[in-house]
Amino acid sequence: MSIRNEPIWKELKRYLVIEIYSRDGIERPRFRIVFRPMPQELLQRAFALTIPCLACGDPIHPIRETFKVYFAGSCPLDTKIACSRSDKISDEYQAIKDEMDGCEFEPMPEQMGFDL
Ligand SMILES: [Zn+2]
Repeated sequence: MSIRNEPIWKELKRYLVIEIYSRDGIERPRFRIVFRPMPQELLQRAFALTIPCLACGDPIHPIRETFKVYFAGSCPLDTKIACSRSDKISDEYQAIKDEMDGCEFEPMPEQMGFDL
Protein backbone atom coordinates (compact mmCIF):
# COMPACT_ATOMS: atom_id res chain seq x y z
CA MET A 1 0.00 0.00 0.00
CA SER A 2 1.20 3.45 -0.87
CA ILE A 3 1.83 6.13 1.70
CA ARG A 4 -0.52 8.22 -0.43
CA ASN A 5 -3.41 6.17 0.96
CA GLU A 6 -2.49 7.00 4.55
CA PRO A 7 -4.58 9.68 6.26
CA ILE A 8 -1.42 11.42 7.48
CA TRP A 9 -0.26 11.94 3.89
CA LYS A 10 -2.62 14.89 3.47
CA GLU A 11 -0.90 16.64 6.34
CA LEU A 12 2.60 15.67 5.27
CA LYS A 13 2.06 16.88 1.72
CA ARG A 14 1.90 20.44 2.94
CA TYR A 15 5.56 20.20 3.95
CA LEU A 16 6.77 18.14 1.04
CA VAL A 17 9.47 19.39 -1.28
CA ILE A 18 10.68 17.64 -4.41
CA GLU A 19 14.42 18.12 -4.36
CA ILE A 20 16.04 17.56 -7.72
CA TYR A 21 19.63 16.54 -7.28
CA SER A 22 20.71 15.39 -10.66
CA ARG A 23 19.43 16.65 -13.95
CA ASP A 24 21.63 14.40 -16.01
CA GLY A 25 21.39 11.22 -14.01
CA ILE A 26 20.53 8.09 -15.90
CA GLU A 27 19.08 6.18 -12.99
CA ARG A 28 15.72 7.12 -11.59
CA PRO A 29 14.74 8.70 -9.31
CA ARG A 30 16.71 11.87 -9.81
CA PHE A 31 15.01 13.64 -6.98
CA ARG A 32 14.54 13.25 -3.29
CA ILE A 33 11.30 13.64 -1.46
CA VAL A 34 12.06 15.75 1.58
CA PHE A 35 10.05 17.72 4.09
CA ARG A 36 10.26 21.27 5.31
CA PRO A 37 10.18 21.73 9.09
CA MET A 38 6.82 20.64 10.41
CA PRO A 39 5.18 20.77 13.82
CA GLN A 40 6.79 18.39 16.31
CA GLU A 41 3.51 16.63 16.92
CA LEU A 42 3.10 15.81 13.22
CA LEU A 43 6.74 14.84 12.90
CA GLN A 44 6.41 12.31 15.71
CA ARG A 45 3.39 10.74 14.07
CA ALA A 46 5.26 10.69 10.74
CA PHE A 47 8.24 8.85 12.27
CA ALA A 48 5.88 6.36 13.91
CA LEU A 49 4.15 5.54 10.62
CA THR A 50 4.66 2.04 9.28
CA ILE A 51 3.81 0.90 5.75
CA PRO A 52 4.85 -2.16 3.74
CA CYS A 53 8.00 -1.82 1.65
CA LEU A 54 6.75 -1.28 -1.90
CA ALA A 55 9.19 -3.85 -3.21
CA CYS A 56 9.12 -6.73 -0.69
CA GLY A 57 6.24 -5.96 1.65
CA ASP A 58 8.25 -5.88 4.88
CA PRO A 59 7.05 -3.26 7.34
CA ILE A 60 9.14 -0.11 7.12
CA HIS A 61 9.14 3.43 8.45
CA PRO A 62 8.83 5.53 5.30
CA ILE A 63 9.58 8.85 6.98
CA ARG A 64 13.20 8.98 8.08
CA GLU A 65 15.72 11.56 9.07
CA THR A 66 19.35 11.83 8.17
CA PHE A 67 20.22 15.47 7.64
CA LYS A 68 16.73 16.21 6.46
CA VAL A 69 13.43 14.50 7.00
CA TYR A 70 12.73 12.47 3.89
CA PHE A 71 10.47 9.84 2.38
CA ALA A 72 11.65 6.36 1.41
CA GLY A 73 9.27 3.75 0.06
CA SER A 74 11.56 0.78 0.51
CA CYS A 75 13.64 -1.09 3.06
CA PRO A 76 16.66 0.83 4.37
CA LEU A 77 19.71 0.51 2.12
CA ASP A 78 21.66 -1.29 4.80
CA THR A 79 18.94 -3.93 5.11
CA LYS A 80 17.96 -4.81 1.56
CA ILE A 81 19.65 -2.75 -1.09
CA ALA A 82 17.65 -4.37 -3.91
CA CYS A 83 14.35 -2.93 -2.69
CA SER A 84 15.35 0.66 -3.32
CA ARG A 85 16.21 -0.21 -6.92
CA SER A 86 12.81 -1.70 -7.62
CA ASP A 87 10.75 -0.13 -10.41
CA LYS A 88 7.89 0.06 -7.93
CA ILE A 89 9.90 2.57 -5.94
CA SER A 90 10.65 4.82 -8.89
CA ASP A 91 6.99 4.59 -9.92
CA GLU A 92 5.93 5.68 -6.44
CA TYR A 93 8.41 8.56 -6.42
CA GLN A 94 7.12 9.64 -9.81
CA ALA A 95 3.52 9.39 -8.61
CA ILE A 96 4.30 11.59 -5.62
CA LYS A 97 6.10 14.07 -7.83
CA ASP A 98 3.17 14.16 -10.26
CA GLU A 99 0.82 14.71 -7.36
CA MET A 100 2.94 17.62 -6.16
CA ASP A 101 3.21 19.12 -9.65
CA GLY A 102 -0.53 19.63 -9.57
CA CYS A 103 -0.65 21.19 -6.10
CA GLU A 104 -1.10 24.77 -5.05
CA PHE A 105 2.35 25.27 -3.57
CA GLU A 106 4.78 27.28 -5.63
CA PRO A 107 7.80 25.18 -6.55
CA MET A 108 11.23 26.65 -6.14
CA PRO A 109 12.99 27.41 -9.45
CA GLU A 110 15.47 24.59 -8.90
CA GLN A 111 12.57 22.17 -8.72
CA MET A 112 11.41 23.06 -12.20
CA GLY A 113 14.37 21.63 -14.06
CA PHE A 114 15.16 24.93 -15.77
CA ASP A 115 18.65 26.11 -16.42
CA LEU A 116 18.99 29.26 -14.35
ZN1 LIG B 1 11.92 -4.25 1.06
